[in-house]
Amino acid sequence: MILKKPKNIWKNMKTDKTTKYIFVTGGVISGLGKGIACASIGYLLKSRGFKVTIQKFDPYINIDPGTMSPFQHGEVFVLEDGSETDLDLGHYERFIDENMNSRNSNTSGKIYYEVINRERRGDYLGATVQVIPHITDEIKRRITAVNVNSAYDVVICEIGGTVGDIESQPFLEAIRQFRFESGRSNCINVHLTLVPYIETSGEIKTKPTQHSVMRLREIGIQPDILLCRSKFHLDESIHKKIALFCNVMPEVVIDAIDAETIYEIPLIFDQQRLGDQITDLLNLPRRKPDLKDLEEFVQAIKNPRDEVNIAICGKYTQLHDAYKSIIESFNHAGAENNTRVNIVWIESEDLTNDSETVNKLKNVDGILVPGGFGERGVKGKINAIKLARENGIPFLGICLGLQCAVVEFARNVCGWKDADSTEFNENTQHPVIDLMEEQKRVFNKGGTMRLGAYAAEVVPGTLAYEIYKNKQISERHRHRYEVNNTYLAEMVKAGLVVGAVNKELNLVEMIELKNHPWFVACQFHPEMKSRINKAHPIFREFVRAARKYHNQKAENARSQS
Ligand code: GLN
Repeated sequence: MILKKPKNIWKNMKTDKTTKYIFVTGGVISGLGKGIACASIGYLLKSRGFKVTIQKFDPYINIDPGTMSPFQHGEVFVLEDGSETDLDLGHYERFIDENMNSRNSNTSGKIYYEVINRERRGDYLGATVQVIPHITDEIKRRITAVNVNSAYDVVICEIGGTVGDIESQPFLEAIRQFRFESGRSNCINVHLTLVPYIETSGEIKTKPTQHSVMRLREIGIQPDILLCRSKFHLDESIHKKIALFCNVMPEVVIDAIDAETIYEIPLIFDQQRLGDQITDLLNLPRRKPDLKDLEEFVQAIKNPRDEVNIAICGKYTQLHDAYKSIIESFNHAGAENNTRVNIVWIESEDLTNDSETVNKLKNVDGILVPGGFGERGVKGKINAIKLARENGIPFLGICLGLQCAVVEFARNVCGWKDADSTEFNENTQHPVIDLMEEQKRVFNKGGTMRLGAYAAEVVPGTLAYEIYKNKQISERHRHRYEVNNTYLAEMVKAGLVVGAVNKELNLVEMIELKNHPWFVACQFHPEMKSRINKAHPIFREFVRAARKYHNQKAENARSQS
């Protein structure tokens, strides 16, 4: 009998053998910082000269987080191509300094939508469409789809949720299969877990980690590296214990201790040789990392010379994640200014009148009014802007912040008492902020705003020009309403200055004030483009202006006493 040559059953599998894949899962509890762990691993690989990208798989059914409340989900991070994504994409971009696109952001919603559309087209030729294999195949397709033209040496995939969640099961099954099909040295699993310290008994507990790894192994995934979130460094005996029970070598049990700044995490990891462990496991060449820039940046954050207090007047202030990119932009801008930025969180609904506003904001050196949706808190934002305008306090308005600044100016400088945005009052006689014509015909909420990167032209001679030192800029947007050009000429006559415009669409992009030391508002979101060692110029100059204001105040107080 002639034995048939065995079939290569993986022949049609589209894994690209030259690209390596790292899957990052999380265990025990949510919120351990998987996004930052992925971004840090990305940083370590990039600092070794590898081309890296990071993608996220979120297990919820929404197509994207664009329709979710910031209270549910934190900030919606917007990419150049207009994708509305999870805030972790912001960490990825900030750490590895690469622009992501829609392929980097996956959700169960997108995956099911795709599979169901294919089913309706008849693509499955009569098959029963099931989670396995149809959903898992689509997940696997997306794992490699991000790697267009095999552009990357390493693709890092963050699996949202916590191991054990029902909804992340298809993702875990897909990565199990992916790993089986692509070979061990092409693909590793990094598991982020919690090692709690029990204060009353003074003990460090490894059991939750053991259980979490057990859950992973039940479904056929053996982690290669464990990142153990803990308050303190774990001693050798704990490393050995975790290694023994979780079936890994003690060297790959890495302490992920609480850090003073998130930017220190790649350094903490690399001190434990995480970078080399990863390249060894993936059969990549060992290379020396270049971490000098990051070390300097972390030193600048940790040892600032000056300090300023900047108020963020918003309506999602109980959940700081709703303003993640703004917080990080202040970290970047602070480092470049040698200044610690203390954020003073102000719930804008509390700024009910002038005296309350003065009371709450009297010690700040700058006021920021961020983006937002809906009328709640707008009155307080307008009160804060009035205070900044009348008293020369450095001010930055972002998106809704710009819209409120225009309304404030129209009401209190131009004297149009009922001036408003039509988002809040459709019947105003002075709709100084209004929907663009094409937005009036849009009814679906998901993915229909003016989204992503648009070019703008900065007007020479303005503060905006001083900030950018450039005429051509491109910034990311996420809004429906715009400055209404009908009222612009009169407002300009009264002292409003247009700092930047979109010539093609005839839209105002930035405004400022004639008689104010530093008052800037933009329709776009500069916070989405600030990165390590590349602070966004608007934030950098805002912090500089706040420091000047702070020193001036101190000088005045000294001369008075
Ligand atoms: N609600 C406003 C709009 O849609 C502002 C949006 C924002 O601040 N991102 O135009």
